[in-house]
Amino acid sequence: MALQRTFSIIKPDATKRNLTGKIVAKFEEAGLRVVASKRIHLSKAQAGEFYAVHAERPFYDELCEFMASAPIVAQVLEGEDAIAKNREVMGATNPADAAPGTIRAEFAESVGENSVHGSDAPETAAVEIAYFFSGLELVG
Ligand code: ADP
Repeated sequence: MALQRTFSIIKPDATKRNLTGKIVAKFEEAGLRVVASKRIHLSKAQAGEFYAVHAERPFYDELCEFMASAPIVAQVLEGEDAIAKNREVMGATNPADAAPGTIRAEFAESVGENSVHGSDAPETAAVEIAYFFSGLELVG
C-alpha cells in the first residue's frame, strides 16, 4: 500500500477539554504523520456544508450546532493505509462500542460529541482536504 492522506478533525468536545495533544499522540503512535494542521472556529453554516451528506439525518441540526460550539483542529494525516488506520485509531462512532485504547473509547463523551472525525474513503478524503486546505498548506 502506498502512502495515503486522510482528513481529520479534532472536535469541539476535545479542544474544549485541552485534549488536542493527547489525540495527536495517538495518531503519531499509530504511524500517522500530521502534514497540515489548523485550529479554526467554524460557523454553523460552514459545519452544515461540511456535513451536508447527513442533512436528512435527525441529528443534523444538533451536529452542526456542536461543530460550531468551540474551535476545532483540522488536520491532514499521512501514512501507509492512512484512511483505514485513522478509522481504527478513532474507534467506533459510539464510544460505548469503541475498542479499548481507541480515541473514542478513551475520550469521547457521547455518540454525537465523539472527539474526532476521519474520512471514510479516498474520494471523501480528497474533497474534505480540499475544503479546508490549499495545496500550499500540505507540507509533508
Ligand atoms: P463517523 O464520524 O464515525 O464516520 P457518521 O458518519 O455515521 O460517523 O456520523 C457523523 C457524525 O455525526 C458522528 O461522528 C457524530 O458526531 C454524529 N452522529 C452520528 N450518529 C449520531 C447520533 N445517533 N446522534 C447524534 N449524533 C450522531
